[in-house]
Amino acid sequence: MASAPSRRFAGPSDLHTHSNHSDGTEAPAEVVRQVHAHGVRTVALTDHDRTTGWEQAAVETAALGMTFIPGMELSSKHEWRSVHVLGYLFDPDDAALRAETERIRGDRIGRAERIVRSIGRDYDLQWADVVAQTTPDATVGRPHIADALVALGIVRDRAEAFDGILHPREGYYEPHYAPDPLTAVRLITDAGGVAIIAHPVTAGRDRMMPVPFIERLIAAGLGGFEIDHRENTEPGKRALREIVKKHDLIVTGSSDYHGTGKPNVPGENTTADAMVERIIERATGTAPRYP
Ligand code: AMP
Ligand code: FE
Ligand code: FE
Ligand code: ZN
Repeated sequence: MASAPSRRFAGPSDLHTHSNHSDGTEAPAEVVRQVHAHGVRTVALTDHDRTTGWEQAAVETAALGMTFIPGMELSSKHEWRSVHVLGYLFDPDDAALRAETERIRGDRIGRAERIVRSIGRDYDLQWADVVAQTTPDATVGRPHIADALVALGIVRDRAEAFDGILHPREGYYEPHYAPDPLTAVRLITDAGGVAIIAHPVTAGRDRMMPVPFIERLIAAGLGGFEIDHRENTEPGKRALREIVKKHDLIVTGSSDYHGTGKPNVPGENTTADAMVERIIERATGTAPRYP
């Protein structure tokens, strides 16, 4: 008889959060304090395309007696869709993964500058205004342009910026380089991590990938899907649950907390202990930081 897994972590678990190392508004330690204050006891920091926040977050989870799951949200793209791939417990020093995240981040800067130049023709916005909204560590993105527009009094908040000036229909949008999702899943998996598709069924530009393509991702090592996320549609969640059942995949639920940058509240969605256990057992790249 198989023995029950020895769980060294405690729930509730929130496996998707952002700090100011990407487009969250708080330092990693503050993110940890906020999720703890909302009752979360196991947390993953999943900044876009970088891992520099891990150390600071791990110091704070240790101080608070929490478990820290190192993670990242890797940008990828399938045709016109932006596909975000969450990676957990991969080796942060893996050369191929590092090279790819450096390429994405580098291209994001040039792309953000192009967007700002284009907006600057119609509004009083300059690149320096955006730089003022970032930390030296940040993965620069449209949220920082939104923050600059807020600081200049052009829009009220990030949401208004995304609904207006930053929306592709306004004509200022530019894409950034991102690998295709198959590459993203392979990079994370080859680095010993577990790959989970973030918010796979949102209503806008990130609509669900075709099922045959999803099955290719599964064959390439995809671990599962983030189903419990406020932006997933109900019909989309039902479709995903069928796929998950058929392939016995991992299901996660998370807040996608961005500090004050989004209304998402820590712990508003959580991941079942058994699923956290599966992620931990499957990963070989780095260990969780237990209390
Ligand atoms: P980018 O990757 O630079 O194109 O920007 C996309 C990021 O913007 C995502 O990671 C989201 O966190 C953020 N975002 C998208 N829509 C909104 C919104 N309505 N309010 C705040 N943040 C948003
Ligand atoms: Fe984000
Ligand atoms: Fe995302
Ligand atoms: Zn996210």
